[in-house]
This record gives sequence, structure tokens and C-alpha cells, in this order.
Amino acid sequence: MATAAIIDGKAKAAELSSAIAKTTAALINDRKVTPGLTVVIVGEDPASQVYVRNKQRTAKACGFNSVQHSLGADATQDKILTLIDSLNKDESVHGILVQLPLPVHLDEQAITQAILPAKDVDGFHFQNIGKLTAGHLDDAFVPCTPAGCMLMIEDQLGKDLSGLNAVIIGRSNIVGKPMASLLLKANATVTICHSRTKDLPAVARNADILVAAVGRAKMVKGDWIKPGAVVIDVGINRIEEELDGKPKNRLVGDVDFDEAKAVASAITPVPGGVGPMTIALLMLNTLSAAERSNS
Ligand code: NAD
Repeated sequence: MATAAIIDGKAKAAELSSAIAKTTAALINDRKVTPGLTVVIVGEDPASQVYVRNKQRTAKACGFNSVQHSLGADATQDKILTLIDSLNKDESVHGILVQLPLPVHLDEQAITQAILPAKDVDGFHFQNIGKLTAGHLDDAFVPCTPAGCMLMIEDQLGKDLSGLNAVIIGRSNIVGKPMASLLLKANATVTICHSRTKDLPAVARNADILVAAVGRAKMVKGDWIKPGAVVIDVGINRIEEELDGKPKNRLVGDVDFDEAKAVASAITPVPGGVGPMTIALLMLNTLSAAERSNS
């Protein structure tokens, strides 16, 4: 039985980051502009701490000015909005990212919408969402995870997806919905599924491109996948498995990888697929923000 090509997101992200580092060096040399990325993290969520560390490490490797503001879990809404206001006005800051999720007493929407659209490198501001939905991508910031998925899909199938069916499982604002806009812009015929979808396996089986962004370990089985489909697994789930008789923590995606790779033509692994590409796209957005700035 043929097995799927494994899409190496880690290698592609490393390639992208080294190209970004070269462009950054030229930007610093020619225009004396150093891309500045500021990350705001509130509280001690361990997964968020890891994500932020990885983002900071990659930003430094790209030659960016990388700054982190760590606030206690009890930080007030006012304190965060005041910080964002000062970052909005700071010409050395080109990209601002507030790591989600925020502690429950904070208004996530008010905070993400307070970031200037021109510095919104996560692509969560309504102005950037509107541009993406309208297909105006030239000066929009596209959310990093779907933008990274799209580059991997293009590598497999090219930029024009005319005639292909794309099915996305998950309708979140940060993955599912922007993914749909990007696939639609590339001429795919797009279906978005979610927790209320009837007979999800049957819908999934129609997909030439299947994107899973749910957050349920190994939910998508091999017999949900159309033979030859390209499968992009966004999910990150920590599970406990027995290894050599001992319980061990392991990261898995939303797709049952071993089953799916026997059916798909190409598939992203977890870890090492979508995750590293998300970080690389954050760097690309920050570089674009710096290039567009007048500073
Ligand atoms: P979310 O919780 O905001 O959305 C999950 C979506 O899945 C919802 O739209 C919901 O309707 C749908 N869903 C839930 N149960 C379902 C079911 N049984 N059948 C069909 N649909 C169902 O999550 P999110 O922020 O979009 O993230 C999804 C997953 O992707 C999570 O595992 C998250 O950790 C991961 N993620 C990874 C990256 C990355 O860089 N690799 C980035 C963002 C999110």
C-alpha cells in the first residue's frame, strides 16, 4: 500500500526563517529599520509560556528586536490597554502580539481590537479579518496558522485549487474561518464543518484537501479520508500513552496519523507540521509590518 508524503513543516519553516533573516539584514542595512516584535503574555499558562519562548527565539534568530512583557495573572484590563496604547505609539515596535488565551477576567476581544491594524501581526483585528474576507490580501495581516497551512497546501497542489474540494473541520476565528477565506481565494470549493455538522465522516470523505482544526486527539480516522487527499492537521493534543510499560505524555494531532498516512497523498505530522510554520509566518508578518512602516 502506498503511503503519504510527510510534509516537513519544520524544514520548510527553517527555510522561510533563513530567507526572512536575509531580508531583515538588508532592511537594517539599507533603511536602518530593525523589525520589532513585542509579545505580551499574561499569567503562567505553561503551554503559552512554551509558545512565547519559541516565538522569541525565532524572532532573535531572524535578527528582530524581540521584546516580551510578562504580566501577572491578576493584571487589569486597564493596565493591558495602557501597555498596548504605548506599544501602538512606539515606532520601534512593528508587530504586537497578545498571547491567547487570556485569564477569564479580561475582555479578549477589547484587547485584540486595541492593537493598531498595521501592527496586528496575528491578523485578529476586524480590519484585517475584513480585508482577508474580501480577498484584499496585499496589505492585510493573515492569521499565522492558516497562512502557514496554505503555503504547505500550495507546495502540494499549486496556487490554483480550481475544481478541488476543501473541507475544514473547525470554525474558529483564528484557524477555521480564515483558512476558508484563503482556500476560497485560491478557487477551492470550500466546506466548513463544526460540532453541529451531520455525518462528518461523509463530508470529510469528499475532501481533496482536508484541514482538521478541532482539538480532539486522533478524531479523524483513516476511513474519513478520500484516497489521495492532502491532509493538514492543525490540532495539538497532549495524550498519555504507555511506552515500555510506563505512562508517557505525547503530542498528537486531530488526525489518526498512522491510519491517515495509508490513504492520503500527503500529510502534516504533529509535532513538526503546522506548529513551526505558524511561528515562521508570524516572523513574515512582522517583517512585512516593518517594511510597510515609515520608521
Ligand atoms: P477552537 O476550540 O476555537 O475551535 C474548535 C472547533 O472545532 C470549533 O469550531 C468546534 O465547532 C469544532 N469542533 C469541536 N468538536 C467537534 C466535533 N466533535 N466535530 C466537529 N467539529 C468539532 O480551537 P482552535 O483555536 O481553532 O484550535 C483547534 C486546534 O488547533 C487545537 O488543538 C489547537 O491547539 C490547535 N492549534 C494549533 C495551532 C498551531 O500552530 N499548530 C494554532 C492554533 C490552534
